[in-house]
Amino acid sequence: MPDPIIADNDVAESELVTRRGTFRAVAFAYGGHEHMALVYGRAPVHADVLVRVHSECLTGDVFGAMRCECGEQLGAALDAIVGEGSGILVYLRGQEGRGIGLVAKVRTHVLQDEEGMDTVDSATSLGLPVDVRDYTPAARILAHLGVRSVRLMSNNPDKIASLEEHGITVTARVPLLMPPHDGNIAYLRAKRDRLGHDLPQLEEFAIGERHG
Ligand SMILES: [Zn+2]
Repeated sequence: MPDPIIADNDVAESELVTRRGTFRAVAFAYGGHEHMALVYGRAPVHADVLVRVHSECLTGDVFGAMRCECGEQLGAALDAIVGEGSGILVYLRGQEGRGIGLVAKVRTHVLQDEEGMDTVDSATSLGLPVDVRDYTPAARILAHLGVRSVRLMSNNPDKIASLEEHGITVTARVPLLMPPHDGNIAYLRAKRDRLGHDLPQLEEFAIGERHG
């Protein structure tokens, strides 16, 4: 059963001209945070829409940090949407560090750099949850935009399950695979091995490495 639509009072939209093209930028206040959907393409689309649900990562998205692949995924998703001629990027705020917040995320970075912990252990050793992201706002935003089913650009099976749980049908998962490098390989391996993300491109990196 689809979620209720968000109240008009909590929504505003305008055109947004970007270097990639002109989007419809729709801002939503929902669940204590403000989110944005970037809608591309003239005709409204309702089924099998190419969609990225992107969790805010200030360090990766804005500052281009190399320790995660968030910024690259954001750019690649927008490129894919523009390349296809239509699609929607839902940018979810309040999801730093898989939901633990920016200060806590930076604390996990210290443990990763100084203790060699991975992205999971660095959170749990601080008594923090590994992933508390809630995709309800994304499902409500998509429903508000009239979207019933999506082709979701994601490597995260949990995200698909969560959207479906909230009434959005995922007709296909479109991998969004960023090339690994020395700066993010440990992070990506932890995501694959400990969080269940589907990251087949990491196999090639292993082949290219020297062992012994
Ligand atoms: Zn990130």
